[in-house]
Amino acid sequence: MSPEELVLAHADLRDRLFAAKLLVPCGVDGLYGRSATFEKVLNGVDAAAYALGIVDDPITISFPPMIPRSTFEAVDYLRNFPQLCGPVFTFTGDNKDHSELVHRLDEHEDYSDCLSLSEVALTPACCYPLYPSLVGQLGDGDGWYSTMGYCFRHEPSVDPMRLQAFQQREHIRVGTPDDVLSWRETWVDRIPKLLESIGLEFRTEFANDPFFGRAGRLMSRSQIEQELKIEWLVPVFGEDHPTACVSANYHQNHFGELFGISTADGAEAHSGCVGFGLERCTVALFAAHGTDVSMWPDSVTSVLWP
Ligand code: ATP
Ligand code: ZN
Repeated sequence: MSPEELVLAHADLRDRLFAAKLLVPCGVDGLYGRSATFEKVLNGVDAAAYALGIVDDPITISFPPMIPRSTFEAVDYLRNFPQLCGPVFTFTGDNKDHSELVHRLDEHEDYSDCLSLSEVALTPACCYPLYPSLVGQLGDGDGWYSTMGYCFRHEPSVDPMRLQAFQQREHIRVGTPDDVLSWRETWVDRIPKLLESIGLEFRTEFANDPFFGRAGRLMSRSQIEQELKIEWLVPVFGEDHPTACVSANYHQNHFGELFGISTADGAEAHSGCVGFGLERCTVALFAAHGTDVSMWPDSVTSVLWP
């Protein structure tokens, strides 16, 4: 498929989801309203992804879709992925500044220099708020977590699988390197079973994050060489352009060192996470089984709504 044909395929699937009123346009690519049916499927995927981790008895915790700017800066998001980031700006000026702001609005002029950085940023991955909360030594038997929430990434696209606002279900393991890597293996077993049970084709690959620029290319290469990221890719737009619907990341001691987390034995903690892209899985299901949920096979709906 040529790049032009791929864009047409993206637009075609998005138009079908709009026509079926599953997604509702908001005027910006990658930002959509969702129908009750879309949400029902998404919640079914989330429940199934959550249930897969229940055997680990994780601490389940929710955070708002924002992180402190201090965390956003500490995790190097702005340095590594400036093209995706979403720091929040607000107005902190006086009456004179306000008049200037209103003038710019009236004249439809750029007003970005009338705003200033706030103390929060939009969350780019829903596991980020967890790590700073774990500062100190883990208790005996601690180290398994599960969270779900909205993420923001500035990657406007007509592809309905690439959103600016989307939800992840993440399972997180914090412990020794062996703890994290053996835990990741359990997910390498579990994830295919879930994807097969809901009728999604997939393949698995070692992958990299989209680190920015020339320095980023080196980081991407090293991430693949060290097999730090595994993706489960679903070929919604053909085998040559599959989309990552689930990813598993091994962060080594990155967050343990940054946020001063140690294991129950006092060693510097390593961490890993498994992230399900809930909208991606949901859109993949509509692409695979059609936009009319009442026609979906019982084998699939019985997994989503047991
Ligand atoms: P990609 O390489 O496709 O940009 P990713 O591998 O960088 O995705 P992760 O950072 O590992 O994504 O995020 C975990 C999961 O979140 C992904 O497997 C995917 O399902 C989902 N996800 C990531 N970016 C988006 C997006 N823009 N829209 C919808 N879901 C996304
Ligand atoms: Zn994560």
